[in-house]
Amino acid sequence: MEIEIATIGGYEEVGRQMTAVRAGDDIVVFDMGLNLSKVLIHDNVQTEGMHSLDLIDMGAIPDDRVMADLDGEVKAIVPTHGHLDHIGAITKLGHRYDAPIVASPFTLELVREEIEDEDKFDLQNDLVAMDAGDSMEIGNGLELEFVNVTHSIIDAINPVLHTPEGAIVYGLDKRLDHTPVIGDPIDMKRFREIGREGEGVLCYIEDCTNAGRKGRTPSEQVARKEVRDVLYSMEDYKGGIVATTFSSQIARVTSLVEYAKEIGREPILLGRSMEQYSGTAQRLGIVDFPEDLKMYGYRHDINNTFERVMNEGKENFLPIVTGHQGEPRAMLTRMGRGETPYQLDEGDKVIFSARVIPEPTNVGQRYQSEQLLGMQGARIYDDVHVSGHLSQEGHYTMLDTLQPQHIVPAHQNLSARASYVDLASSQGYRLGRDLHATSNGDTIQLV
Ligand SMILES: [Zn+2]
Repeated sequence: MEIEIATIGGYEEVGRQMTAVRAGDDIVVFDMGLNLSKVLIHDNVQTEGMHSLDLIDMGAIPDDRVMADLDGEVKAIVPTHGHLDHIGAITKLGHRYDAPIVASPFTLELVREEIEDEDKFDLQNDLVAMDAGDSMEIGNGLELEFVNVTHSIIDAINPVLHTPEGAIVYGLDKRLDHTPVIGDPIDMKRFREIGREGEGVLCYIEDCTNAGRKGRTPSEQVARKEVRDVLYSMEDYKGGIVATTFSSQIARVTSLVEYAKEIGREPILLGRSMEQYSGTAQRLGIVDFPEDLKMYGYRHDINNTFERVMNEGKENFLPIVTGHQGEPRAMLTRMGRGETPYQLDEGDKVIFSARVIPEPTNVGQRYQSEQLLGMQGARIYDDVHVSGHLSQEGHYTMLDTLQPQHIVPAHQNLSARASYVDLASSQGYRLGRDLHATSNGDTIQLV
């Protein structure tokens, strides 16, 4: 059976991930993501009403025109988890393929919400939920399996396409977390089996986000302990404390909520995406928030809440807000600019439970946000965080576990993938032979 891989997006950047695997006459597409930084750099660009080709020209979504070169039919579109760089282009490209969208329940729900918000296209693709650990037959003699992985969003999986020539393991995005805060540990036992059964692993497509970092990415429990440590250190503080993190990082939000309560403050989730992700997780029963936890996404409700906080005393509350990257329209940035009823005073604490995404736009915006907060007297607690991506030791472990015949490094630009190329080379792989450094729009013929 002919096996071919098209590296469509996310091979020259972090963002707009998309990869297609053709096995015989059948094609499976993994991820259809958005490169948000290409959207945010323009003032007031609303993607909901935009046409695909304009977004492709902006570099915001994958240029899937290379799909015309693949001689087969798309049988499934498989987003691995709910981050926008993996699902954010589905509403713009999905309708071009007569294929179901297959994802884990939380991811699928986020895709459904994206489809509801879309103005330009009317997606009719079937939405099929599949749990981690389950499989389905696909096309002619293929099987699609979801292996449970751990990442900075709940319900992440690594899809595995079983072909007669061996397994294709799509390894974006994960860390090896054996003690996650929500959900099951990473299923290394299943990865070990896949590496050893049948024809083994024909190809492994790997997330190189942190390939330059030595050592091991810690468990989410480590971030939870850091959150606890920081909040308990403020237990006696009688002023304002505000926290921010990735809205989709439900486990982290849970830790902030729990320890806020323990130090005697009422946590409140504020901001549109904060309300969206946490509300969805709660509706699906994936997270067990306190029954009286309030979350608000609309400007009017948020302002009312801030007025209540100011009236009842800031020392009784812990707002958990959007804006960890200094996004100009996010809640924390607006608080820094003094655009909300919440008044920061000298000595108030702002906790960033997030790392700045190392990209010039983010770095600049975050700097600005911190300056604005600082000018009002706020004190910054930075980087109360652990990453959701493998570091070098995790990469060694995955290679040892899967023993793939071919590797395709992904999820970074070429220079950042170089660290991974060095690492894989040290394990006996050779660039151009079984280690494939590709660009967006390339195809690799494996069999
Ligand atoms: Zn991700």
